[in-house]
Amino acid sequence: MAEKTIFKKIIDGEIPADIVYEDDQSLAFRDVNPQAPTHILIIPRKEIASIDHLSAEDEQVMGHLFLVAQKIAKQENLTDGYRTIINCGEGAGQTVFHLHVHLMGGRNLTWPPG
Ligand code: IMP
Repeated sequence: MAEKTIFKKIIDGEIPADIVYEDDQSLAFRDVNPQAPTHILIIPRKEIASIDHLSAEDEQVMGHLFLVAQKIAKQENLTDGYRTIINCGEGAGQTVFHLHVHLMGGRNLTWPPG
């Protein structure tokens, strides 16, 4: 069987995480190497490797992840705006192959990202 990703280990409670939100479909925790004062990762409990691996049945959960992002942005008081990012594939900087939404805020975010 394929090795569990680090995020699946967090879902299964095998390694610790600073969890800020969870429900039956998703989990959100602080990034260990934050690139902004608020940097949170929102993941589906379902194992989906990347955007490239989505299927029609994942439509609802993908929308759910963004509603969770909105909720956490309020919780974190990101009143000056925030950014959501999903890296897809190594060339785009994806390093953990369990789909995740980066939620970043708390500083001025420039455009375009690097
Ligand atoms: P990616 O580069 O889009 O795949 O993002 C992976 C993110 O996961 C990076 O920002 C890492 O800092 C973060 N990360 C890796 N391992 C852990 C962990 O164990 N807990 C929290 N964040 C992690």
